[in-house]
Amino acid sequence: MEQASAAASARLLRADADGLAAAVAALDAGRLIGLPTETVYGLAGDAFATDTVAAIFAAKARPADNPLIVHLADEEELPRVTEQVTPLARSLAAAHWPGPLTLVVTAAASVPAITRAGLSSVAVRVPDHPVATAGLQRCRSPLAAPSANRSGRPSPTTARDVLGEFGSELALVLDGGPCVVGVESTVVDARGSRPVVLREGGVTREQLGVSGEEAAGELQRSPGTRYRHYAPGCRVRIAPAGQVDVEVARAVTAGVHFGAVVHRDHADHLPPTATVIDTFTDAPDLARRLYTGFREAERAGVELLLVEAVAEEGVGRAVMDRLRRAAGVA
Ligand code: AMP
Ligand code: MG
Repeated sequence: MEQASAAASARLLRADADGLAAAVAALDAGRLIGLPTETVYGLAGDAFATDTVAAIFAAKARPADNPLIVHLADEEELPRVTEQVTPLARSLAAAHWPGPLTLVVTAAASVPAITRAGLSSVAVRVPDHPVATAGLQRCRSPLAAPSANRSGRPSPTTARDVLGEFGSELALVLDGGPCVVGVESTVVDARGSRPVVLREGGVTREQLGVSGEEAAGELQRSPGTRYRHYAPGCRVRIAPAGQVDVEVARAVTAGVHFGAVVHRDHADHLPPTATVIDTFTDAPDLARRLYTGFREAERAGVELLLVEAVAEEGVGRAVMDRLRRAAGVA
């Protein structure tokens, strides 16, 4: 056990000049690394190398029809992945890059079919993290970097959690500290004249100027949102805001070993038998803590994790989307 963790930690590199050089060498050699971004840690590899992209799909056990996001160092690199930058894509990129917004654009032939799961479009983003940016600037190719977890599992938001997920399978993991957003990027189809939100994420509808009501009529979704996702190895139940007591009473009556992630002001209401996994102050704070909470619940060995709901506004929409998927009620 000790040996295993020593081996695992040997691949965890500080994101200093040496760490970055090792990361870039690995990426240019077609290997996979764990890369921090502001959303979650990515399982990064050369987006233009077919074998490398195949290795990403294999490592994650990701369905082949779930396309990857291609990461660029900056907006100027867009011509590497598309020949058709619509005025909408241009203005969204100007407003939100670098940042947690992914744009779906018409793909250039340079993007391998495997990366885009055979679609004529490609998803592209410029992350807002100094380590990701430094890596992207130095690498030969743009990077495909889906979340560094096995398909269906919670995304990792710390370098340690990437190691826990993949251990020896990666060339290395760059440690860029905990992710400041904590949920994945918002995916927007930018091929038309107005933004169509395909997945909720770190950039809010309010920031995009797209209302929730409009969304209700939109049936389009990202291919990836078809799959059950983000789930830890215990059951997850959403406790309506302010009604944690009701769900707690149910769990106590049922004799279930449960943990809870609740608003800080509600932690005192929990019975001593409950394991407080974490507390939060608001939706952005829960976004940062959600996936670490899931993993902590696994480590604590609880059967059930109660998570208090937040309002469906701002980043709260993305949080509730992930929670519903984890709870299996999406
Ligand atoms: P992940 O990298 O796991 O956070 O997932 C990326 C998300 O982007 C998934 O929901 C994909 O289905 C979505 N996506 C990637 N490429 C495309 C595309 N070309 N069109 C629509 N959605 C996409
Ligand atoms: Mg993912």
